[in-house]
Amino acid sequence: MSREKPFLSCIVPAFNESENLQKFIPALATTLEEQQIDYEILVVDDGSKDNTIAVLTPMLDQYPLRVLELSRNFGKEAALSAGINHVKNNLTLFIDADFQHPLDAIPTMISLWEGGYDMVYGIRNRSTESPLKKFLTNAYYKFLNFSSDIEIPENAGDFRLLDGKVITALQALPEKNRYMKGLFAWVGFKSIGVHFSELERQSGKTNFNVKALFNLTLAGLTGFSNLPLRLCMGFGALLALCSMGYGIWIIIETIFTGIDVPGWATLIVAISLLGGIQLLFLGIVGEYISRIYTETKSRPQYIIAQEHTHQS
Ligand code: UDP
Ligand code: MG
Repeated sequence: MSREKPFLSCIVPAFNESENLQKFIPALATTLEEQQIDYEILVVDDGSKDNTIAVLTPMLDQYPLRVLELSRNFGKEAALSAGINHVKNNLTLFIDADFQHPLDAIPTMISLWEGGYDMVYGIRNRSTESPLKKFLTNAYYKFLNFSSDIEIPENAGDFRLLDGKVITALQALPEKNRYMKGLFAWVGFKSIGVHFSELERQSGKTNFNVKALFNLTLAGLTGFSNLPLRLCMGFGALLALCSMGYGIWIIIETIFTGIDVPGWATLIVAISLLGGIQLLFLGIVGEYISRIYTETKSRPQYIIAQEHTHQS
């Protein structure tokens, strides 16, 4: 199967990336013009505190560029959703503004799309990350994929090319608490991964600190797996069975050897252990409930302060 010449929308989420954008927009435009692709670039300014808008404004006349300015920082997942909701249902590329996603991988991705794939995702080699982070990420993906019905490809990030029909499918998803990697996998379609070496960030530093990564991890787990809840249930059942067995044992022991007073330490340990386990499990249940609460509040995922196009 071969497809017609595409019109490509590029979604670039950006949070305090003015230095990078200054060079990135021209570089992306050059790459696409070399490929003779018709395109537009949609930068989602995720509440940047730097001079992002000032840097992008003069470029509105030079490039087929639009800028969505969000009213504050809503996070990368929300910025991507804003992008998805503001492109037409044509071929769409997600690419970071910091040059970590190599521009020279784009032609390969497009030719795979031309060959009939609806989703082409970049698989990063994590060469810029520490061994501990690699190990934890690996364990996380293993757990997530073991416990969920869908297969979320390991190390596949947000560097992706999506056919228009995938975009339409994503636009139709109503959930507010979004874990994009999971949703990309959930919608399905004919997909393929391409390996790429992640480059060093050109300027600035990563926005994903330990807290942001922890939040993303929890969003993935709670959004795509019920296993934590099931584990609580299973563990609770096991403990209940053991206590019943122990209860029977005590009755038998009392009948045959009389009442035994010692056992204070065992008692305290058992009570505090059970208390701890109960609180932990309540926390896990609470995590799911808090997400239900967020969904029912139905607040928008992001608010657009202004849209900049070359006419304005
Ligand atoms: N980003 C964003 N909103 C945020 C955090 C990040 O739009 O709250 C953008 C950021 O400007 C960059 C991309 O998402 O273009 C990836 O972020 P970053 O480079 O900080 O993450 P990393 O590459 O370290 O995973
Ligand atoms: Mg980056």
